[in-house]
Amino acid sequence: MAYSDYRRILLIRLSSLGDIILTTPVLRLLRESWPSARIDVMVKAEFQDVLRAHPCVDRLLPVDTREPLRHTIRALRETHYDLVLDLHRTMRSFWLYRFSRARQRLAYRKHTLRRALLVHCKWNTLPQTVPVPERYALPLRRLGVMTPLPQTELHVDAESALAVEQYLAEAGFKLPTVPRCLIAVAPGSRWKTKQWPVERYAAAAQELAARHDATIVMLGDGHDRPLVQEFQQHVAVPVIDTVGQLPLMQTAALLQQCRLLLCNDSGLMHMAAALGVPVVAVFGPTVQALGFYPFQAMAQVVSHPLSCRPCTTKGLHRCPRGHYDCMRRIAPQQVVAAAETLWPEAHH
Ligand code: SF4
Repeated sequence: MAYSDYRRILLIRLSSLGDIILTTPVLRLLRESWPSARIDVMVKAEFQDVLRAHPCVDRLLPVDTREPLRHTIRALRETHYDLVLDLHRTMRSFWLYRFSRARQRLAYRKHTLRRALLVHCKWNTLPQTVPVPERYALPLRRLGVMTPLPQTELHVDAESALAVEQYLAEAGFKLPTVPRCLIAVAPGSRWKTKQWPVERYAAAAQELAARHDATIVMLGDGHDRPLVQEFQQHVAVPVIDTVGQLPLMQTAALLQQCRLLLCNDSGLMHMAAALGVPVVAVFGPTVQALGFYPFQAMAQVVSHPLSCRPCTTKGLHRCPRGHYDCMRRIAPQQVVAAAETLWPEAHH
């Protein structure tokens, strides 16, 4: 089959929030290269809202990974895909392709061995610092798709935007003419080692809020609730606390109204980048060579050079050396200074 004849394309990327957002430049390339093809995307059910309003997606196939594989396969076989673009690349996604009756599979290279060498031996054999969206796009380059990669995208649905407007109005804010600007802070992380100390977030956010007459908004999911009280103990101003209280796309709608986000290397960092919100990201045990820096974004990354970095590709719950210096050596003033460089661009 000629490439130009693709009529049904399936992209697989099951998790997580940031990884799914990083597939959106490829979705845009697929749509531009095969304008009349049907483009379906398979994602974990809990993240399906991230792509629900994306104009390049025709159908979402949400998957509950706790269910047996055969349930998903049955749904897949009903559509005879011409191309499966496997950006998840696990045994699970491989078997999904094998049983799907799709004609062709393209998968991205994870460089698992090279990344392990970098983490465990500090030997960087990765070809160069290639951002993950570029790695996702490489299989399409083999098909002759040479268009430059666009930015990540996130499309907030009207319902979520309205819900947030009401939420902010109840908190004393009126959109679109917000009287005081909002500074978003997302201090949580799934991994303890990727979490900059919460009292330092509080110090940095409070300093910025005082300088710019801004209000602090805390973002995060239910797992981050324990951080809220500690954060509030270290600030002397009122904080809008939304942690664990908003669905994912309402969090996006709220973030879109903020001047800036302070966060760790996390899914919300990629969300801000995709929304065009300037972001200051604190990186500890991970490094740029792994490919997850904010992509084509108004962003500043703050980190501290240490010989033990990187010690993980995704994150760890404990520092292998026990001192957490990659995070503890970053002072609030560094984050404030990074935010100030972005402030002129923070146009919301
Ligand atoms: S201090 Fe070093 S070993 Fe500990 S978490 Fe950070 S990078 Fe890893």
